[in-house]
Amino acid sequence: MSDCLFCKIAAGEIPSDKVYEDDVMVVFKDINPKAEVHLLAIPREHIDSLNEVMEQHDAFMGYMLRRLPEIAGNQGLNDGFRAIINTGKGGGQIIFHLHIHLMGGKNLPGFE
Ligand code: AMP
Ligand code: ZN
Repeated sequence: MSDCLFCKIAAGEIPSDKVYEDDVMVVFKDINPKAEVHLLAIPREHIDSLNEVMEQHDAFMGYMLRRLPEIAGNQGLNDGFRAIINTGKGGGQIIFHLHIHLMGGKNLPGFE
């Protein structure tokens, strides 16, 4: 997707504070952190949201989830973390390139 902010971040065309990347995914710091540690994990392949995930995406979806604990641990979150996927306008999604919010540390917001 040529006009997608997160595709451009994944391609390095727009700067970001990357903490991890490989052939499948890129993880970078959220520009407006809502917790002490607030990262965004994205697949390199563009997909709008969880609503569009199909069987053909199972490999990268599973891979990304499986990598999160290690990535969180490398950011000092050895005691646990929270993963959130806002999906669709009603789910609070603003950027339509699927991303997993990985949050932890002090100031972890509650659900109340
Ligand atoms: P969502 O509401 O789930 O779509 O979340 C989008 C997230 O992207 C928000 O937490 C923003 O702070 C974050 N964000 C927007 N632009 C950038 C950017 N250029 N670099 C890093 N994070 C960004
Ligand atoms: Zn994209």
